Amino acid sequence: MTSEAPRSPESIYLDHAAATPLSPEVAAAMESVREEGFANPSSPHAAGRRARRLLDDARDRIACLVGHDLGPGVGLVFTSGATEANRLGVLGLASGSRGRVLTSPRDHSSLGAAARDLAARGWDSVLMPLLADGTLGLCSLPAADGTSEIMCVTLVCSQSGTREDTDRIAGWRDDAGRDPLIHVDATQAIFNAEASTPFGLPPGLAATLALAPHKFGGPRGIGCLLVRRDVALVPVTPGTQERGLRGGTEAVALAVGFARAVELAVAERGVVARRLAQLRDRFEARLAGVAAALGVAIRVIGADAVRAPHISTIAFPGRDRQAVVMATDLEGVWCATGTACASGSSEPARALVAMGLPEADVQAAVRFSLGTRTTAVDIDAAVDRLARVLSRMAAPRDG
Ligand code: PLP
Repeated sequence: MTSEAPRSPESIYLDHAAATPLSPEVAAAMESVREEGFANPSSPHAAGRRARRLLDDARDRIACLVGHDLGPGVGLVFTSGATEANRLGVLGLASGSRGRVLTSPRDHSSLGAAARDLAARGWDSVLMPLLADGTLGLCSLPAADGTSEIMCVTLVCSQSGTREDTDRIAGWRDDAGRDPLIHVDATQAIFNAEASTPFGLPPGLAATLALAPHKFGGPRGIGCLLVRRDVALVPVTPGTQERGLRGGTEAVALAVGFARAVELAVAERGVVARRLAQLRDRFEARLAGVAAALGVAIRVIGADAVRAPHISTIAFPGRDRQAVVMATDLEGVWCATGTACASGSSEPARALVAMGLPEADVQAAVRFSLGTRTTAVDIDAAVDRLARVLSRMAAPRDG
């Protein structure tokens, strides 16, 4: 079950925000339950009960390690990933026939899709603006028409790497003084050296929180929605499993791998976050140095903002981002033009547009994302190869 990290002296993987290699410890944990936990956890016989115990143990471990961001007694619904958890979070909170849902260009497309579904049901859907530092521009809004108001908060933006200011969010009320129900997408947010809890959320802020382990050494095909104790959730895929909140036979080995990945990430998150931040700073400083030597202007997106340590989005104004990514691919450096689900799209990253960056920066922005196995040797080699790419590429269109 062990998958090798896609890196060798020839290749440098800098696309961890899209997916990380499976950690060997996680693979071993999954392998250890492959036989023991194969049965359907809903089956009443001994094999089923054994699978159920493994599943519920994984659930309890994850809820215990990351649940205190939502308060005591948090519930946890396993899903297929963060896309489904986002959808369940937003649609599950939307109990009334009318209400208001707030999303922003920081969000993953799954949150926008859920908001569109609510709009089709007659809800008001508001796209909040972004400030220049990439955080939410909290506008004044009249009282929501209906019983519910749901605000989506993406803790770390996968396009810019900027971290949301959750204290400011906690202070936001609509003009009638009402608190919204807050759905948090924490998918890119586990490495945070500053916070005392894994996500550093003000107590009671989040009603629901989405997470997926394949962003930090865990398996793909599983995610979860944490649900605050006082919150009633409406299922999106009804069924008897997951206490009626998500139908479908649960993936026991994936859940066990998820729990192990969370244990490792939470135990090491401060150390890893500081190491990644140092590597990111080294990458940006060295790249700025070689670019200056070549007479090429580059800009680090969100350089002055609070950022997650693993994402560095760099604009190469005058260069085409797809061309940069293709040329670096040929050099064995694997990076991205934006989120993996949108890569290949000719649309620029929405968050960068909404931050009010110059068009030339938005069109030329490339995302480099680091992981726990990235080393200083990788970073230096990546910069050397980028220098070759930049020196080979045609002069800027406008230069
Ligand atoms: N939310 C954020 C912030 C993401 O970066 C991603 C994936 O990149 C997702 C949600 C979707 O995650 P998944 O691929 O597990 O569905």
